[in-house]
Amino acid sequence: MSTIRVGHLYPDYLNIYADRGNIAVLARRSAWRGHDLEVTALGMDESIEPGAHDLYYVGGGQDREQFLVAENLAGKAEALVSAVVEGGAALLAVCGGYQLLGRGYRGFHGEEMPGVGLLPLETVAGERRLIGDVLLETDLGPVAGFENHAGRTRLDEGATPLGRVVSGFGNDGESGFEGCRLGRAIGTYLHGPLLPRNPRLADWLLEQALAHRTGGEAPAFDPLPDDLEALAFEVSAGRARARGGRS
Ligand code: GLN
Repeated sequence: MSTIRVGHLYPDYLNIYADRGNIAVLARRSAWRGHDLEVTALGMDESIEPGAHDLYYVGGGQDREQFLVAENLAGKAEALVSAVVEGGAALLAVCGGYQLLGRGYRGFHGEEMPGVGLLPLETVAGERRLIGDVLLETDLGPVAGFENHAGRTRLDEGATPLGRVVSGFGNDGESGFEGCRLGRAIGTYLHGPLLPRNPRLADWLLEQALAHRTGGEAPAFDPLPDDLEALAFEVSAGRARARGGRS
């Protein structure tokens, strides 16, 4: 039984739509498997020490909040890339956090925000917000959630998306892709209660974090009953399907 160490980046700034709830899911699902989850806030004044955390979490935010943290976060880019890309820590970045993990984000009012450059993508805000329920097909099975963003994210050639959009807008409303996956890192626009209704995704992140913790293979958790989670997924997926195809 291990302690999974989570580094929660800028919880005071990037926590739109209760993104923090994702942490509660990770804590419960770890506990049900006999592991502790130790969550450390990594704010403006904290540095990132590669190896110190098994899973990083970055939530979403409005352009204003993103602008406040962007430079500070970009200053920690080398350490974060070293921790995740070289060191193999897991990462979940949601919406505003997802945008800032790419090379940069140009906000709605033209503000240029530097990114971490960890994920192979760039984001520019468009005129119309992309809002609504989303359903994806991913390697981890179907994923359902809610999106609300002005940013249009373009993945670099050859980059791996989190999934294909079945219903909803996704990265840019055009490409048919949503999110980005790089090793044990996932970036996605799906926020609010993403993990409560997508337990397989939560477990995958915990399995990857444990692999980092132990230095061994990622374990394969026994499934949990997840009846409520399945119902929550169905509500969300049903709303997304009712929206019809992409756009
Ligand atoms: N401010 C960003 C956008 O509008 C991210 C929004 C969010 O995190 N919900 O694209």
